[in-house]
Amino acid sequence: MTVKEAEIGKAGESNRTAWHFHPELPIRLAPFYDRPVNFKNIAKYVLGGWSLFGERIYFLLIAIGIWIFFSPSLERTVTFQFDWIFEIWLRNLILITIVAGGLHLYLYTFRKQGDDLRYDTRTYPAKGKAFLFGNQLWDNMFWSLTSAVAVWTAYESVFMWVYANGLATMITLQDHPFWFIALILLTPYWAGFYFFWQHRSLHWPPLFKHIHARHHKNVNLGPWSGLSQHPVEQIIDQSDCLIFLLIPSHPVHVIFNLLFHGIGAPSSHTGYDAVRLWGSRRLQIGDFLHQLHHRHFDCNYGTYDMPWDRVFGCFHDGTPEGDRTITERRKALHAKARKNVSR
Ligand SMILES: [Zn+2]
Ligand SMILES: [Zn+2]
Repeated sequence: MTVKEAEIGKAGESNRTAWHFHPELPIRLAPFYDRPVNFKNIAKYVLGGWSLFGERIYFLLIAIGIWIFFSPSLERTVTFQFDWIFEIWLRNLILITIVAGGLHLYLYTFRKQGDDLRYDTRTYPAKGKAFLFGNQLWDNMFWSLTSAVAVWTAYESVFMWVYANGLATMITLQDHPFWFIALILLTPYWAGFYFFWQHRSLHWPPLFKHIHARHHKNVNLGPWSGLSQHPVEQIIDQSDCLIFLLIPSHPVHVIFNLLFHGIGAPSSHTGYDAVRLWGSRRLQIGDFLHQLHHRHFDCNYGTYDMPWDRVFGCFHDGTPEGDRTITERRKALHAKARKNVSR
C-alpha cells in the first residue's frame, strides 16, 4: 500500500472480511446531534457513559486513587528531581502493564472468552518484517512501554511541577466543587474533540508517512496496539492535557485526562467489544468505530461523542451502505488527486 493509498484508502476496495462480531448496526454517534433533539436519549447516553459496566468510571476512580496514594506531594515537586519523577514513571509502567498486559493475557494468551465478542478473528499478534523484532506483540509492547510511558510521565511530571510552583491555577473540590466536578464531566468530551483534530491532521500524507503509519501497521488490534505509535504521535496525542495550563484545575483532572491515553488506548484497541462478566453482563472496552478506522484508514477519525466524521462525510456506520459511502468518497478523492497531478 502506498502512502497515498494508506491515507485515502484503496479505490474500490470492498469490505475485506466480514466481522466476526459487531455491535448493533448501524453504529450511531452520540444523540447530541440527532434532530429533533431528544433530551431523554441525551440524558440516557450521558449517564450511561458513567455506568459501572463502562470504563470511564474506573478511569476516574484510578485517577483519584493515584492522586491520594501514588503521587508525590507538591512539596516535593517544586523542583525537578529524579526520585519523584522515577516514582511517577514506575507507577505508570506498572499500571499499563497491569491493564494492557492483563487484557492481553486474558483475551489472547489464555483466550478466556475465545472469540466471543471479538471483532476480527484474523491472526493477532501478527508476525512480519513490518514490525520491530518481526513480531507485532513485541513491537507494540516496545513502543508502549518505552516512549509512550515516558511521554505520559513527562506531561504528568511537568504538571506536578507547574502546580507546585503556582504556574497554573489550582483549585480544590472543597473550594470549587461545581467547577471541579464539571471539569471531570467535560474531560472525556475534550479528549474526544482533541483526538479527532490531531488524528485527522496525522492523516495528511507527509505526517502519515513519517509518523502515523507506525500506528497503522496494526490492522488487526490487541491491547498493546493502542499506544504503539511514533514518539512524535505520542507527544501530540497526549498533549490534550495542556488545556489545564489555561484553566483552573487540579492534578486529578490532569491524571484523569492522561489515563484516557495510558489505559484508555489499550482498552479501546483490545479487538473485543467487551469482556464478559456474568450472565449477560459485560464490561464495555472495545471501540468498533475505531476498529473500522484501522481496517479502512480513511473513515472514523474521531469518537462517538464528536460529530466531525459525519460533518466531513467520512463516518462509516459499519453497514454495507457505510462501505459504499466510504468507497464513493475514496473514488472521488482519487479522481481529484489524479486531476491535480495531470494539471
Ligand atoms: Zn489513523
Ligand atoms: Zn488506533
